Amino acid sequence: MSNPEKLKLGKRARHIFIVAAVLILFVSVGALAFNVEGQAGMTLMAKPTMAAVQPHTGNTAEASSDGASSRLLPENFPQPNPSASDSSSAAHPSGTKDSGAPEKLMDPAVYQAMYPGLYAGSIEPDAEKKNKTVYLTFDDGPSNLTVPLLDVLDRFHIKATFFVVGHTDPQSIKAMKEIVDRGHAIGVHSYTHRYQQIYATPAAFLTDFSEMHDLILKNTGFDTKIYRYAGGSVNDYNRNTARAIITEMNRRGYVYYDWNVSSGDAERGSTTQSIYRSTVSEVRRHNDSVVLFHNTKYKGNTLAELPKIIATLQKEGYSFDKLDPGVDNTPYIFKIPAQ
Ligand SMILES: [Zn+2]
Repeated sequence: MSNPEKLKLGKRARHIFIVAAVLILFVSVGALAFNVEGQAGMTLMAKPTMAAVQPHTGNTAEASSDGASSRLLPENFPQPNPSASDSSSAAHPSGTKDSGAPEKLMDPAVYQAMYPGLYAGSIEPDAEKKNKTVYLTFDDGPSNLTVPLLDVLDRFHIKATFFVVGHTDPQSIKAMKEIVDRGHAIGVHSYTHRYQQIYATPAAFLTDFSEMHDLILKNTGFDTKIYRYAGGSVNDYNRNTARAIITEMNRRGYVYYDWNVSSGDAERGSTTQSIYRSTVSEVRRHNDSVVLFHNTKYKGNTLAELPKIIATLQKEGYSFDKLDPGVDNTPYIFKIPAQ
């Protein structure tokens, strides 16, 4: 081998050595990066939940809507108190501090860490359910018509369920307490009932939910585990966020109920007769029913017609009960449309 050849070979060896060294360095750095990412993922996964939460009974993606309407029902909801969102942000700074960065509020790691006390805990299935049970539910109260409604329910010795909103005037607070004191079920509906606000992100939903949950707890002493989405779980405002919100609320152990019977009392032009007809005829089509009514100050027709509705259904062998987180929500939740 000539000298120039040796030189060439030496050069080539050096080249090979450098390339190999660079490759080894590259692979090591890659492995290190992968490891760090893997560790970060593990940390997130292994993060303990705040409470032992029973797996949710309802599978939202597969449950049947049972023919129930999934459109957003007009609720004739009165204009919300303008101070509501202010008091909300004051009471829950952790829920609103990130409001400047909406993408952050969609990050599960961020909203799962919010409200560490907001977990429902374990739930016992309801074993005592009778056949032909009707669960009357009243949304959007309390109002001046809540106590008169409670009087009707007392007269028939039946219990019902109230999904309430953030009214903080003395009459509403008193009515909220009456609901619980007279043995009815109370659940979160929404503090503000502002669709665009509460369905913007899971974090925004949690802030509103937490506010209402705490208002109920503070005024009635009752730590409710049930709720109903404003506008129902499937509506025009939560198309992009419903899955994330429901997943998060299920993770926290809260149980929601839509309905399989609508009284139609929030529909334009509804009358006492139409409320009676819709309710009774739809209840007859189901073995068990969750019936949607409303309890705002505008729902005098609902109040007026309730005794007749209850009397008819009692005569036909239906019994009435209040919702309890142990009542399987599967037949009463709307199916989320495929994305
Ligand atoms: Zn409502």
